[in-house]
Amino acid sequence: MPRRAFIVHFPVRLDSGKIKMFVGYRVHYNDARGPAKGGIRFHPELTLDHVKDLSFLMALKCAVVNIPFGGSKGGVVVNPKELSRNELEHVTRGYVRAIASYIGPFVDIPAPDVYTDEKIMVWILDEYERIKGKHEFAVVTGKPVELGGSKARSYSTSLGGIYVLEEAMKRKGMDKFEVSIAVQGFGNVGENAARILHEKGYKVVAVSDSKGGIIDKSGLDIKAVMEFKDKTGSVVNFSNATNITNEELLTCECDILIPAALSDQLNKDNANDVKARVVMELANAPTTKEADDIFFQKEIMLIPDALANAGGVVVSYFEWIQNLNNDYWEEDKVLERLKKTMITAFNEVHSLCDEKSCRMRKSAYQLALKRILHAERMRGNL
Ligand code: GLU
Repeated sequence: MPRRAFIVHFPVRLDSGKIKMFVGYRVHYNDARGPAKGGIRFHPELTLDHVKDLSFLMALKCAVVNIPFGGSKGGVVVNPKELSRNELEHVTRGYVRAIASYIGPFVDIPAPDVYTDEKIMVWILDEYERIKGKHEFAVVTGKPVELGGSKARSYSTSLGGIYVLEEAMKRKGMDKFEVSIAVQGFGNVGENAARILHEKGYKVVAVSDSKGGIIDKSGLDIKAVMEFKDKTGSVVNFSNATNITNEELLTCECDILIPAALSDQLNKDNANDVKARVVMELANAPTTKEADDIFFQKEIMLIPDALANAGGVVVSYFEWIQNLNNDYWEEDKVLERLKKTMITAFNEVHSLCDEKSCRMRKSAYQLALKRILHAERMRGNL
């Protein structure tokens, strides 16, 4: 059970002049290892239970990569696509006013998550600073570099995952120039993952967004796909590629599958048809328990979310350090420390996995829980 869970209701005046009440949540799962840390998502189907689960995952994630944070998560039940920019700003500011007493640089530090971005992080910062009457950059991470953000934060979740993937490929004896990769999701995380892989010379054969996907067995020109999506709003109908559904993407012919969209995408209905040899979870909780069991039986290596997508929160931690020290790090320094942190965590999880012959998700959870419980014990709480 989480240490604290807050439900807030707050009014927002819409452009029409009407006032609407919104519901928001913030959950501190655990903060034995340091201030609670986790993103804020804006989603129409958000529930308190889902936020609790995601806050638990954040606690595990921070412990797996051994950064001094606990875990939290929050969000507002809203479809941001239905709001004007003005309404979105007022929803964000209303939510911050409602949770301002429960966040802070040494209490709980929000960050971006599904459908929230740098612009929203600036509104969070600004509203919090207005309430406190002083500057407090370290209250939120994922800010733009010009306003206290860290270099490389915007693509750190994707790059952190790729560092881990390359270690996993070494263990599996997979050759960079022989593998084909499919990426589900073309939001911040999926798009950056596809872009970085493409720039590194990997063959990305399929990508998708919420409207559908595309496939080209000889490899997609990801830069051109990005330009196409900027113009048309979707990757669908990209020239020289075949349109596929999101479901077809997950079971397409590829060696590495990267779910980078929403939860529960890989489940009992499609897991048996997955052809990939490695599944890397860049999304939070994209695989259900049943699918996880099927992958284990089929000897598909699954790199779990708590490890695979921790690069984002790792660079959030670097951002927080920079803010507390009024310092700015060069990109090289951020990347070097990110790589070291991710590879250390991968090696720790993988050796535990070898030792106990269990799946990587289990060893990641064991490592994380051991660290959290050790902190609780040292504090005298257990
Ligand atoms: N929302 C991201 C995650 O789920 C980032 C969290 C953070 O940087 O605090 O990992």
